[in-house]
Amino acid sequence: MTDTENTLFERAKKTIPGGVNSPVRAFKGVGGTPIFFEQALGSKLTDNQGKEYIDYVLSWGPMILGHGAEVIRQAVHQQVDKSMSFGAPTELEVEMAEKVCQLYPSIEKVRMVNSGTEATMSAIRLARGFTGRDLLVKFEGCYHGHADSLLIKAGSGALTLGVPTSPGVPASVAAHTITLEYNNAEDVKLCFAELGDKIAAVIVEPVAGNMNCIPPADGFLETLRECCTQAGSVLIFDEVMCGFRVALGGAQERYNVKADLTTLGKVIGGGMPVGAFGGRADIMDCLAPDGPVYQAGTLSGNPVAMAAGLAALNEISKAGTHQQLEEKTNQLTTGLRQLAKKHGIGLVTNQVGSMFGVFFTEQASVGSFKEVQACDSERFNRFFHGMLEQGVYLAPSSFEAGFLSLAHSDEDIEKTLTAADAVLGELSI
Ligand code: PLP
Repeated sequence: MTDTENTLFERAKKTIPGGVNSPVRAFKGVGGTPIFFEQALGSKLTDNQGKEYIDYVLSWGPMILGHGAEVIRQAVHQQVDKSMSFGAPTELEVEMAEKVCQLYPSIEKVRMVNSGTEATMSAIRLARGFTGRDLLVKFEGCYHGHADSLLIKAGSGALTLGVPTSPGVPASVAAHTITLEYNNAEDVKLCFAELGDKIAAVIVEPVAGNMNCIPPADGFLETLRECCTQAGSVLIFDEVMCGFRVALGGAQERYNVKADLTTLGKVIGGGMPVGAFGGRADIMDCLAPDGPVYQAGTLSGNPVAMAAGLAALNEISKAGTHQQLEEKTNQLTTGLRQLAKKHGIGLVTNQVGSMFGVFFTEQASVGSFKEVQACDSERFNRFFHGMLEQGVYLAPSSFEAGFLSLAHSDEDIEKTLTAADAVLGELSI
């Protein structure tokens, strides 16, 4: 790290907790000092020293078109000239709702919020209000934002009460959350056999992106669907990360399993702070002002964010987008595996569409949270810093997925693989 970056980080820590506005940015997982960025265009980031990086974080996913896409910038500029906020209805919100419902057939009605956390928090309250039940089932390794009922880990046994993962979350709140093992359908069946009539909702990342990238095992999502249908519980797919990305209609299109409620974020803001939750009309109609479940937001459906998001969604709706993204990502993951083999380094890659994960491990595959935890995170950290040095920006944690955009060129991927060749060579020594 340069002196200037260190100085800026030290300065930041004086007035911002930990120097950052979201913990993972602090590089605690990988060590070192965070990079301070100044500009982003296409597949590239530029830091405050003028150094360029090929970006595989893409603001944690939303930049499917790459940074600063012309269509999004134009839409934002035009809207800013009209209004930055009304706090009253606009046609743009209606257009956005119609677009989301068109792309996600399971969503009959949708409400906009300002972040993924707000989307999941609201969806859970709605599911509880709709069912009149309190219990929530979630899965270890999945992240759904930082609302109280979601910062809970498993108790000592699968069906015991949850334990808060953060001070400030009351034990009485944790008592309503059960945390099960991701991709373990048998655990889910057992849980429903015992507690089915008390379960308000199951919330899951249908493609997990917060324990690196873990695809759903065959039959896992189908089991969730069957159990929820039989017990009258609400199945919530948290597609904040994989929505519009693993397919235009998200994981539900890719795996052909319908959720009752879906939470969305990131992509529908085209880079602006936006989230949404939507689903079956009979459930959504329980929301205020028509129903008794309260949920609101001064800036929800903000016109600038809607304009940016609509431009992004219209652009990625063009034929061939997702195939192109998947092919580029495949080029990268195949190349990385070949290089690891050349250098005698155990490396597994996972990929769903343009989401990918890189794992340093001798395991043949990585398909569960336990298997992610068993990977060599120290080796990942060295790989991360080596790649950073070479001008490639990966997520600063071995527990985060990577992403590609339409702006990533063949040349970007070649450069990334050349960098990886050098870094993996050093790691093998
Ligand atoms: N759900 C998932 C799957 C996420 O990946 C995230 C954030 O990364 C969230 C919810 C929370 O979203 P936000 O950070 O916008 O509150």
